[in-house]
Amino acid sequence: MNSENTTDATTAKDGGEEPVVESFQLDHTKVKAPYVRYIDTEKGPHGDVISNYDLRLVQPNENAIPTAGLHTIEHTLAVQLRKRIPGYIDCSPFGCRTGFHLLTWGEHSTVDVAKALKESLEFIGFEATWDDVPATTIESCGNYRDHSLFSARQWSRDILAQGISSDPFVRRVV
Ligand code: ZN
Repeated sequence: MNSENTTDATTAKDGGEEPVVESFQLDHTKVKAPYVRYIDTEKGPHGDVISNYDLRLVQPNENAIPTAGLHTIEHTLAVQLRKRIPGYIDCSPFGCRTGFHLLTWGEHSTVDVAKALKESLEFIGFEATWDDVPATTIESCGNYRDHSLFSARQWSRDILAQGISSDPFVRRVV
């Protein structure tokens, strides 16, 4: 660990300042899902840039994707978004089950991310068969019984019917 990081850690521990989690600052009553929201960019010590996005599939506090469908969407997005977004790192579901966090190397416009998400949901909603859902065995998944392509398909279609906006507050459907 370099001296800068050590200083940061000490400040956080001793300074009494709680880390600020950007997503917890967002007013969830103001957003209009489905949308892609750019959260922020982190720069590493060697200049590498990592971007963080909020992929909100359903309206917070009005809807939530059931776990089995969300789980199948998660597995399938891991392959479909990776194909479509250069520098894809990870896409993990929110505990509230309304969407996903996306991490990428470098920076991408929310329009490009929204288009990639749209194409991926079109694949899940209208093309995917069970063989297209990766890692659904006891060896490759932590809860392999809890998958539903039927649910993933229907939710994907519902989300697509509303359109995916490249802005969280104003509807700019891609
Ligand atoms: Zn799994």
